[in-house]
Amino acid sequence: MTKEMTCIICPRGCALKVEVDGGKITVTGNSCKKGFQYALEECTNPTRTVTSSVRVENREDTMVSVKTAKPIPKEKIFEVMQKIREKSVCAPVRIGDVIIKDVFGTDIIATKNII
Ligand code: SF4
Repeated sequence: MTKEMTCIICPRGCALKVEVDGGKITVTGNSCKKGFQYALEECTNPTRTVTSSVRVENREDTMVSVKTAKPIPKEKIFEVMQKIREKSVCAPVRIGDVIIKDVFGTDIIATKNII
């Protein structure tokens, strides 16, 4: 099986070609080792960092930006977004505060200060 993908690790965006032959994976088109690792993970266990925002109840028309503290399995993105959509917080909120605890092995944390 051959897969083509674009490496999203850096802005260079190398076009990768991945050959999967049984348990053997060959990657071409990568300009560095990070591209190989990215292609390997995309074929075996794709993950993503999810970014979004959460409503702040006690501030009119205010949202606080949030993200997963660690990448989560790609197939769980919809469920994580649903949990984020259902959540609201009260200010003050500080960068790094845990907004939702233990979501698929990580936390949802604030990436903005709302004082
Ligand atoms: S393979 Fe390396 S240089 Fe190319 S996009 Fe990925 S990280 Fe950047």
